[in-house]
Amino acid sequence: MKRQKSFSDTGARLLLIPSPIGNLSEVSGRIREAVEACDVIACEDTRNTGKLLSLLQIRKPLISHHEHNQSSSIPRILEELTAGHTVGVMSDAGYPVISDPGQNLVRAVIEQDIPVISFSGPNAALNALVASGLDARHYLFYGFTDSKSSRRRKELEQLKNLPWTLVFYEAPHRIAQCLADMEEVLGNRQACLARELTKKFEEYLRGTLQELRQAAADGLKGEMVLVVAGHEPEEADEAAACRQVKELMAQGMKPKAAAKQVAKETGLSANGLYQLILKEQD
Ligand code: SAM
Repeated sequence: MKRQKSFSDTGARLLLIPSPIGNLSEVSGRIREAVEACDVIACEDTRNTGKLLSLLQIRKPLISHHEHNQSSSIPRILEELTAGHTVGVMSDAGYPVISDPGQNLVRAVIEQDIPVISFSGPNAALNALVASGLDARHYLFYGFTDSKSSRRRKELEQLKNLPWTLVFYEAPHRIAQCLADMEEVLGNRQACLARELTKKFEEYLRGTLQELRQAAADGLKGEMVLVVAGHEPEEADEAAACRQVKELMAQGMKPKAAAKQVAKETGLSANGLYQLILKEQD
């Protein structure tokens, strides 16, 4: 086990600093404090972060750090940290690392036993989830699906039996095809498309995947998050699953093992299936 220092200690540390997803007033006092504490800031796009910093009237040296230059930018950032400097990481919007650069850098810095500290701030997925009206007790953040429909459908196949609310990022030019794929693979579930969050034309479209697909066919612009209800096992699913369990038992499998196997295939609860079988046997 390793323990690390907090933000209040100075010296070498990596600060993960979120930026606004639209509304600049969402820069908190603490985010400003974090930016001011940096000796240098590694950012996805130096022009965009530069603009944000000039609005905040803060000047800091910027290093470009993104997916395509990380083999050179990570060693450069580690050099800064080894020299005892505080390095900030910022992306164009929201949290670094979340569907944005930073993951490999965070790992590399942790490996060097250098503190990594995060700051609270805007995140498009959470904004959309909490306003969607869908079950937010348990959710799965998926981010972007593949841009190719055939590969996206394969990804959706893996998600279709999960009982948790699903949260996706999507680009406006792909949303219509993405919704069509979802309707086909996941079924016509309830969903919410949250668009232009925190901006002037912020909008929430709540309805079925089919209704959202129809709205997207008329054209939906801007940045968007799609929140989709999780799989709700229907009674018919349970009855079919019980039959499968009994078939496996007839082949000699123990009830618990059979329930476990069918649960894995259907996404239903193993214990729930086992209890149903016991009830039927009584
Ligand atoms: N790191 C960011 C975060 O923490 O939310 C996400 C960055 S990802 C590259 C960009 C995607 O986030 C967009 O394509 C969109 O799906 C979503 N997004 C970002 N800003 C948004 C906004 N204001 N409204 C809706 N979705 C947004």
